[in-house]
Order: sequence, then C-alpha cells, then structure tokens
Amino acid sequence: MFYKCANCGGNVVYNPEKKGMFCPYCDSPDSEQRTEGDKDEMVLCPNCGGELVYDEYTSAFRCAYCDTGLILTPRIDGAYRPKKMIPFQMGKEMCKKALRERFKKNLFAPDDFLSDVRLDGMSGNYVPYWLYEYQTHCDFQGQGRKIRTWVSGNTEYTETSVYDVSRSMDIHFDKIPVDASIAMPNDVMDLVEPFDYKQCVDFDPKFLSGFRAEFYNFSAEEEENRANQKMKASAEKILKESYAGYSSITTTSQHVDIREQHSEYALLPVWHYDYSYNGQDYPFYINGQNGKIVGEAPLSKKKALAYSLTAFGICYALLALVPLLVSFL
Ligand SMILES: [Zn+2]
Ligand SMILES: [Zn+2]
Repeated sequence: MFYKCANCGGNVVYNPEKKGMFCPYCDSPDSEQRTEGDKDEMVLCPNCGGELVYDEYTSAFRCAYCDTGLILTPRIDGAYRPKKMIPFQMGKEMCKKALRERFKKNLFAPDDFLSDVRLDGMSGNYVPYWLYEYQTHCDFQGQGRKIRTWVSGNTEYTETSVYDVSRSMDIHFDKIPVDASIAMPNDVMDLVEPFDYKQCVDFDPKFLSGFRAEFYNFSAEEEENRANQKMKASAEKILKESYAGYSSITTTSQHVDIREQHSEYALLPVWHYDYSYNGQDYPFYINGQNGKIVGEAPLSKKKALAYSLTAFGICYALLALVPLLVSFL
C-alpha cells in the first residue's frame, strides 16, 4: 500500500517539519489517496512494478527503483497493528542540523563526517516497542542511623540515634518502554530515551509513509524481564528517595509486588546514521522526537567518547552510565 497524490500522482509522505502529509512533487498538503497494492505479501512495487526486497520484520520502506514509500498492509494489521505511536517530530534536515551543531567543534572528525552526501544516507525508523504498565505495592523495612557530634571542653561527644524505618506505598508505573527489535542494540535504545508520551497518538499508517518501520520481533511476554528490571530499578529509586536523610541505612527487607500489569504495542521514532571510517563503523541513533543523539564519534586514536545529548541541552552525566559505549583505542 502507498499514498498517491490526487493532484499529480506522486508519492505523498509524512513530513515532520510540516506536521502533516505532503506531496514533494507538487507541494500539495493533504492530497493523499490510499492506494492498495497486493493484499498479501508484496512482491512487486505497486507504483513502478519493480521487484521488492525487504527484511523479515520490515513493515514500511522505500522502493529501491522509484523511491515510493511502501507499507506492507498484512504487517500492520491484526495482531501486528500497533496500538499507539509517536510520529516523527524531527525530519532529516532537522537531524542533520542537530548533528552538525553538536559536532561542529569536533576538530578530530574526518572531513566528510558531516557532509550532505553522508548525512543524506540517514534513515528514519519506527522502532517497535512494548510499553508496560504496572500497578505495584512496594515496601521497605530497615534501620536508619543518625549521627550527631559535638565538642564540649576537651571532649568530643558522638550521639548515634537508631530508627526503625518502614515504608509502604502503592506505585503506578505507566509506559515503561522496551524495544522489540533485534536490529536495535538494547543499551543504545535505553539511552535514546526519554520519549514524551504526551505526543503519543493512536496508530495511523499515514505516519509511516516515507519512513522505514518494523513490526515487533519479540512478543510482550518475551520482553517482560527487561521491563520488570526497569520497573524494579525505578521502584527502588523511589523507595530510596523516601528514606533519604539518614547517615546510614541497613535493609531488613524490601519487596516490589506486581499487582497488575499490561502492555501495549507502539512504534517510536528513531533516526539512524551509519558512518564508517578507517574500516570502523560509527552508528548514530537520534531520538526522532527530541533530537537526543547517541553514538561514538570518530576522534583521534587516543580518545573515543560516547555522546549522549539532546538538541536543546547536553547531558554529559549519562557518559558515566554507558560503559558499553565507551571504548579506548
Ligand atoms: Zn502531488
Ligand atoms: Zn517502485
């Protein structure tokens, strides 16, 4: 299936800069007409008749011959129909600008690193995610110590007060994201977060037009462990914040019980720029909603750094959290 322009017959694509459907051939907004191809697995391009090649999990891509944005209908229907999605908010030009802005002062980068020719090879991918929701009951039992010292005359006094610390709370977690794509490295996808779910909308295939998309490679059950771990880490952080203020704390018991959980299938936007230099690949992943960039930059041989930032603010602190992305040459 693809979207054909009612005015000129060209391919209408979703344009993030214009926040809508747009025909790049005759500059018309909202002129799309849904044009069905083969209802089953598509073999030939419904626009030009060229033979199509695509991967096992592909659900949207561009024809190699006529560049039409094609959508494989059986792969977005029934059990494969996403419930929600965040449409791309950043188009290719905005992404190019964000990368150039970030790396313009990088004196060690090769000359063609930010060239149009290389950057035009970027692809916008809707990555399949499961969004988990949990209703939990969390409790903590332990002992907290507060230490007070003072000096009187020539004597220093220390007073240690011991408190029983007990916390019990119901915590609701909404939309904990876990990607369901083999092609996307898990550690990188965790770094591409956060996504702002206020822009999450009901799935509409129009947003896929002109972009690549995959359907989920793993079921929600198969990804459940990763989601549980993320949820538990957040729960423990919330508990910890609730008993801050003691000099030290010992834990007697801590439980995070899941009372209810469910998951939703969603597509989230990620740009991918593959740069290779001296036989080494430097993949960059850019959050298609806020421009946060994750990837290793090509630098001098003595240094390699991991970058993680947003288009609007830099977050160097994340470096400490990504040992896997840091390599020393
Ligand atoms: Zn047109
Ligand atoms: Zn074609």
